[in-house]
Amino acid sequence: MSQLDLLIFDCDGVLIDSELLASRVLADSIYRVTGIDISPREALIAFTGSSADDTQRIMRERYGINNPAAVLADYDAHLFPQFHRHLTEMVGIPQVLDALHIRKCVASNSRLERLVNSLGILQIWRHFAPHVYGADMVACGKPAPDLPLLCLERCGVDPEHALFIDDSPHGIMAAKTAGVRAVGFIAPNDPRAGRADVLLSAGADYIACGAGELYDIILDLHLHEESFTFEKEADR
Ligand SMILES: [Mg+2]
Repeated sequence: MSQLDLLIFDCDGVLIDSELLASRVLADSIYRVTGIDISPREALIAFTGSSADDTQRIMRERYGINNPAAVLADYDAHLFPQFHRHLTEMVGIPQVLDALHIRKCVASNSRLERLVNSLGILQIWRHFAPHVYGADMVACGKPAPDLPLLCLERCGVDPEHALFIDDSPHGIMAAKTAGVRAVGFIAPNDPRAGRADVLLSAGADYIACGAGELYDIILDLHLHEESFTFEKEADR
């Protein structure tokens, strides 16, 4: 049996190409509710990978927004219709999921409702359900290890037999604290500079720029560890 038994995927920015779309909706909501004008790119840099609580804190601390809950309510009202109209999978990811015959689950700092209304409207949902876990299903979202630990427990897999794939340092930290190896994923269309350094500093064991590199890393680990297991068995 292979030593790599479970792939734990972050959702936004890894499985689905949602970050710029969501950042555009959030920038619009901030402007609508507060009159503060920030670009979608700035919203992406400031808020991507944050839980709802962290998003509200950043709004207060960085932008002096005193009614962040009202902004998020406006954002929630506009986000799902935009997802239903425009959301797509990350380029190359459906082919990678089809090709890798390893169990898969999702650990996201989004709420389950958002996951159902984003990942859940795409064909690739079938690779994960029912093992789709959101931040509202644990005490603390990433960077706390609660989400990867929940995935391991529900799937019955030990941390050393899992691999975590995330585009945010919070996800990498959560994985490492849970004892899981981590791939730092960089979307081909990510406008942020220096992402590899950010993810490596957070503890990423590997860096994948796009779905093709991700596939190569996972296949390499899977085949290498499979042959390693066979060699050990042959020695007995
Ligand atoms: Mg992400």
